[in-house]
Amino acid sequence: MKDLIIGAHVSFNKEEQLVGSVLEAISYDANTFMFYTGAPQNTNRANINPELTKQAHEMMKEHGIDSDHVIVHAPYIINLANNGSNYDFAIQFLKQEIKRVEELGITKMVLHPGSHVGLGVEEGLKNIIFALNQVINQDTQVTICLETMAGKGSECGRTFEEIKTILDGMKYPEKVMVCLDTCHINDAGYSVQEFDATLEQFDQIIGLSKLACLHINDSKNTLGSHKDRHENIGYGTIGFENLLHVIYHEKLAPIPKILETPYVSAEDTSTKRAYPPYKFEIEMIRKRTFDSKLIQRIRDFYK
Ligand code: FE
Ligand code: FE
Ligand code: ZN
Repeated sequence: MKDLIIGAHVSFNKEEQLVGSVLEAISYDANTFMFYTGAPQNTNRANINPELTKQAHEMMKEHGIDSDHVIVHAPYIINLANNGSNYDFAIQFLKQEIKRVEELGITKMVLHPGSHVGLGVEEGLKNIIFALNQVINQDTQVTICLETMAGKGSECGRTFEEIKTILDGMKYPEKVMVCLDTCHINDAGYSVQEFDATLEQFDQIIGLSKLACLHINDSKNTLGSHKDRHENIGYGTIGFENLLHVIYHEKLAPIPKILETPYVSAEDTSTKRAYPPYKFEIEMIRKRTFDSKLIQRIRDFYK
């Protein structure tokens, strides 16, 4: 059996850049990872240091991390679905972000389709299609992975049909793929308990060959709640066994799986400290056995 491709969301800072991200991934025993190239809520970005990038790629090779499995997440403030006053800026910023991802030698970028903010889904989807066709051209090296959304507020991409509509509008369809988030699909109303049926639906509507990335999260909310609040693996409404079924699904073996589960808060909440759960969640996933004491073990490890 091929090795599980699993990693987590890691940080990226100005000083260490990709080297820091790789080190963090290695500390979790991950063989892939995902990062924002700067703060997700703003568009301030440092220049990419080519020396650090080279060093990071050498480290990845040494540690069995295939750079094609590594994911950048586009800042979530980019909203391509509403063509109001920030639309042109969002398009320009996404173009720049793609260049940065190319400079970093990363080949996949996850993007939230966007929120229409009152324009209606149909207009929202049109705006997304127009914007992506402005951004992507024949020279684009990065594959954009549209993320399936929970349907919070006016988010587009809450159904497989909406994602398919965007894909169908692409001038360069081979450069646009899909990222499936287990928390988001649950909250959007697609069962992860009955995952084979959901995957069958995905295959019928979008096509399994378009799936390029998986976000593995449990959910704090129930099926169809349209909330989007991630929970630690096995501690939410989806449950450990159902997530394991996704993670070890043979049809999904070649697809990188990224954890975006919440940091665990310190017992003493007045300290406001929180610890990354990823080393422990990855270990638990590899052991395929739920640990009901995981949260406590994380607190003990980091304190
Ligand atoms: Fe996301
Ligand atoms: Fe996600
Ligand atoms: Zn989410």
